[in-house]
Amino acid sequence: MAAASSASSAKRALLPWARDAHHALTRVLQGSGGGGGGGSSFRGALPTLAAGRWSLLQRRWRSSLPQLDSTVDRSDEDSGGDIDWDNLGFGLTPTDYMYVMRCSLEDGVFSRGQLSRYGNIELSPSSGVINYGQGLFEGLKAYRKSDRQGYMLFRPEENARRMQHGAERMCMPSPSVEQFVHAVKQTVLANRRWVPPQGKGALYIRPLLIGSGPILGLAPAPEYTFLIYAAPVGTYFKEGLAPINLVVEDAIHRAMPGGTGGVKTITNYAPVLKAQMDAKSKGFTDVLYLDAVHKRYLEEASSCNLFIVKDGVVATPATVGTILPGITRKSVIELARDRGYQQVEERLVSIDDLISGDEVFCTGTAVVIAPVSTVSYQGQRYEFRTGQDTLSQTLHTTLTSIQMGLAEDKKGWTVAID
Ligand SMILES: *Cc1c(COP(=O)(O)O)cnc(C)c1O
Repeated sequence: MAAASSASSAKRALLPWARDAHHALTRVLQGSGGGGGGGSSFRGALPTLAAGRWSLLQRRWRSSLPQLDSTVDRSDEDSGGDIDWDNLGFGLTPTDYMYVMRCSLEDGVFSRGQLSRYGNIELSPSSGVINYGQGLFEGLKAYRKSDRQGYMLFRPEENARRMQHGAERMCMPSPSVEQFVHAVKQTVLANRRWVPPQGKGALYIRPLLIGSGPILGLAPAPEYTFLIYAAPVGTYFKEGLAPINLVVEDAIHRAMPGGTGGVKTITNYAPVLKAQMDAKSKGFTDVLYLDAVHKRYLEEASSCNLFIVKDGVVATPATVGTILPGITRKSVIELARDRGYQQVEERLVSIDDLISGDEVFCTGTAVVIAPVSTVSYQGQRYEFRTGQDTLSQTLHTTLTSIQMGLAEDKKGWTVAID
């Protein structure tokens, strides 16, 4: 009975969905498909047998990892070798360390996170993420402070909370806000020599949460991995800081009501590659998606949110489940209100609203605030104001000054890593 009682105390710690999966798995391990009382002749021997197979399984779930390097070099290496800091795009420049933390479905809480050398990870061919797309990502940036003393993060708790919200939607346990922020800081410090000099870019930080344990039938994976890697980046679009050209897509949709458009799940991105590739082949920078029901209301671009300005009124599509609630979007709404744009409207924004707009811009951690010079819709091209004295330019300066520590942060948005 020892095995049974320790199993039940473990069960108490489980999330409700995890508890169901745990019950189901325990039943399978005990060889009884149904509820209790199903007269098995092996009953007396079962708890021991089940416990043995359970720990064997657990051992096999543990994906292998590059060995922890206990001598993480935090010394004074302060430059990224031969990096051409002036020509950083958004390519992947591998850095030195990644942060990894695991959690079994049984435990439901993450523990024992650690830095290890950046490198390939081993996953079971039947892991939940590979087979069923059970995964989330986040994206945030660390800037080098102007006085070269330390680094700045922008609202990392917001990323942590968004991951928790997404994890709930995707039936995954998630790290606490404290664990998330701590892990981000560790990752930045371990890779400090890759943080670009001020004005040249930022260290882009990519947290992942994936179902790394094996599962064959459709169900939440038995083990989860939280991993953070980082790469120095410059501007996101090849246009650099120049205005971008978008095309409205009316055949392919990225989200639907009741779907997952409102969370940063990895499964939202491969389905839009086709539209993105088609757009790029025609010379556009990115795609603007329409709502899947009416094909009339704008949602967002592939990886950034959308704003329009008309007659001094700012509007952005409301986040009603089909749009990713961007942290840049949320910050820009607040900064615009501070600048006297009292009416920043979060509402339905139709194609007609867009076409008659004066100014259009996109927001996101990767793109920051990107001015849009043209939008094409059904073969027609519409032009918008860019450059001097536009709201997007003003907001870009205000936002990046706060993010880089050049302006006083009156909102408590930045987190210093010293
Ligand atoms: C990440 C993302 C954004 C921007 O979110 P931020 O928090 O501002 O970086 C917008 N749209 C989509 C689809 C995204 O994946």
